[in-house]
Amino acid sequence: MRRRLVAGNWKMHGTLAENEALLSSLLAGFSGVKSEVAVCVPYPYLAQVQAKLQGSAVAWGAQNMSQHGKGAYTGEVSASMLNDFGCKYVIVGHSERRSIYGESDELVAEKYAAAQAAGLIPILCVGETLSEREEGITEQVVGRQLDAVLSKSGVASLAKAVVAYEPVWAIGTGVTATPDQAQAVHAFIRGKIRDLDAAVATDLVIQYGGSVKAANAVELFSQPDIDGGLIGGAALNADEFLAICKAG
Ligand code: PEP
Repeated sequence: MRRRLVAGNWKMHGTLAENEALLSSLLAGFSGVKSEVAVCVPYPYLAQVQAKLQGSAVAWGAQNMSQHGKGAYTGEVSASMLNDFGCKYVIVGHSERRSIYGESDELVAEKYAAAQAAGLIPILCVGETLSEREEGITEQVVGRQLDAVLSKSGVASLAKAVVAYEPVWAIGTGVTATPDQAQAVHAFIRGKIRDLDAAVATDLVIQYGGSVKAANAVELFSQPDIDGGLIGGAALNADEFLAICKAG
């Protein structure tokens, strides 16, 4: 059976003291969690998170990385630097990176390839804006975002990746996609991959992200093609995040 993954995306939140409290509560309340769990944290806190979570059931990762291996790229962080801090995952192509920092499908595909080349598991975010959904081009947009990665890295690469379907209109808005809306896009993604490689499609973990809360997680995660979630705001509250992990 496909594994389930619930990953927290802390975005640009946290302090040393807040992280310590959050992670302690997470570890203390972890029994009963069956899905795999990870937290994707700001770069400066990777050492703290590594020290705290090493040997625990919770994995960790980053929220972005450079497509380059090393060199004169001021302000950038490479995949091998993430490896130095024990990261298992790295988010690539989050909609905030695409919309605020202008990351193109091609750049995201380069980051995805660089992450895998370094042994990291990319969590590839895809999703449409509200206007794209209203125009009826959701599948076209998500298909295009996937195609960039497929043409650079091939379908087999998805055996070592996670896809997160995150409708942009649901991220941080409190408006969650209905289980039916989310399932429809997840089924489209899995079907598209199945056309290329049935075994890869069967095992591919496809997370849903966008205003997931404890109150809606069970219904979302019980959809046949939803394999856990990528969680923003609710990942900053230990009780809420644990309840979501237990729904997964
Ligand atoms: C996200 O940032 O990936 C996200 C899903 O955020 P939120 O859960 O706050 O909507």
